[in-house]
Amino acid sequence: MSRGSGLLSGFRGGHSYEEYSFGDNTTFIVDLRHMFEMYVSPDRSWFSIGAGALLGQIAYPLLEQYNLLTPHGTCPTVGITGLATGGGYENMSKLHGLTVDNILEVEIVSPNGSQLIVNEQTYPDLFWALRGAGSDSFGIITKLTFKAYQAPVDYLSSRDTNTKLAIKDGTVVVEAFDIQVGTCTIDVGESDDNAAEAIQRVNHILNKFPTTSLNTTSVIADRYVDFIFRASHPNDVGIEDPSQLPNVTREMFTWRNFHANNLIEIADALRLYNLLVETLDEFQDIIIEMYAFGGAINDMTPLDTSFNHRNGILYLVQAFHNGKATLNPYHPSLDWLTRFYEWTKLVFHHTESYQNYADGTMPDYLERYYGSNLDGLKEIKRKYDPQNIFWHPQSIPV
Ligand SMILES: Cc1cc2nc3c(=O)[nH]c(=O)nc-3n(C[C@H](O)[C@H](O)[C@H](O)COP(=O)(O)OP(=O)(O)OC[C@H]3O[C@@H](n4cnc5c(N)ncnc54)[C@H](O)[C@@H]3O)c2cc1C
Repeated sequence: MSRGSGLLSGFRGGHSYEEYSFGDNTTFIVDLRHMFEMYVSPDRSWFSIGAGALLGQIAYPLLEQYNLLTPHGTCPTVGITGLATGGGYENMSKLHGLTVDNILEVEIVSPNGSQLIVNEQTYPDLFWALRGAGSDSFGIITKLTFKAYQAPVDYLSSRDTNTKLAIKDGTVVVEAFDIQVGTCTIDVGESDDNAAEAIQRVNHILNKFPTTSLNTTSVIADRYVDFIFRASHPNDVGIEDPSQLPNVTREMFTWRNFHANNLIEIADALRLYNLLVETLDEFQDIIIEMYAFGGAINDMTPLDTSFNHRNGILYLVQAFHNGKATLNPYHPSLDWLTRFYEWTKLVFHHTESYQNYADGTMPDYLERYYGSNLDGLKEIKRKYDPQNIFWHPQSIPV
């Protein structure tokens, strides 16, 4: 079969940046929305979940009924299968790895209609490929099994408000941009004393940053489950009744992303500052996010799974226009994002991008997503889907 006549598997989360799960008018779409059944092992060391589950349908029951978690994103309407098979980054990742690192087994319907149980022992080559490039290239995933971890029980110090920082004349001072410094999670045990101490520790670090009149930083102690509710969008999701989850809507933003493996020189930081200052008024809807990598993410080597963005990666950067630019190909934000991306290439010399932030404008997407794992992936694609039945514009080619 050729492009466009392929089965486009697993529409569920519908959060593919490029809408690959929506297909086109020649695509056969399998909707897995009713497949979200969860089973937790008696020793609570793993759980399995239907491949149609959304993150909210996993996180809340796991936490509330078992006090367990596996690292995955906090947005409750993202689908587990798209997220897990392409990486899956969140605030627990430096402790427990990415979502993909915690996959123990995959149940998949192959292009010839067989149901395969795929793990380290059976179909190990496919297991390797699915963990990094599993979205819609090898079959329809119907169930996933993950390692489970004890959730932090009582308190958690976190910081999730905006602070205003910028770099000027070599010093981090100016009140120019919203930089969401992010969320820091510390399990502080049961007592209020521990919580107070954790807050003090976090504040000690934060106080190294200059304060400004716009600074709205706060550190609070919380129950982990409450933190998850706060960090996600609790109004979007009904834990008692998952059927209340809203129908998925298409996101309206345009983005560029890359993995950075070096810190930039102060002169380049100033250039970035100037680029932002020059365009600040015009591009108020531009958001730049940076996610720290390292920690448990590097417990695996880039070759252990087909997800290769590991050793040497300091952080993942995503810049996006949070608005309607997608609807207007001449929107100036698109041009700004392209300029920003080209400039960062010169400064960061980056060669890798995150496959879960699919970007249809990148000509070298295969190399940027999979690096030296690409040849192995093509070989496995030819073995399991020689007719290229599972296809989207950035799927693994035969
Ligand atoms: C609002 C938002 C928040 C996000 N937050 C995070 C985050 O915190 N961390 C992070 O790492 N990423 C995050 N992402 C990126 C996210 O990981 C990717 O967009 C991911 O592809 C979404 O998966 P999905 O199942 O929701 O999407 P879908 O569009 O349903 O699927 C994505 C791809 O996977 C394929 N697929 C889906 N189900 C199956 C299946 N059963 N079998 C085979 N192929 C299948 C689809 O065909 C499609 O190609 C976020 C994205 C959005 C829009």
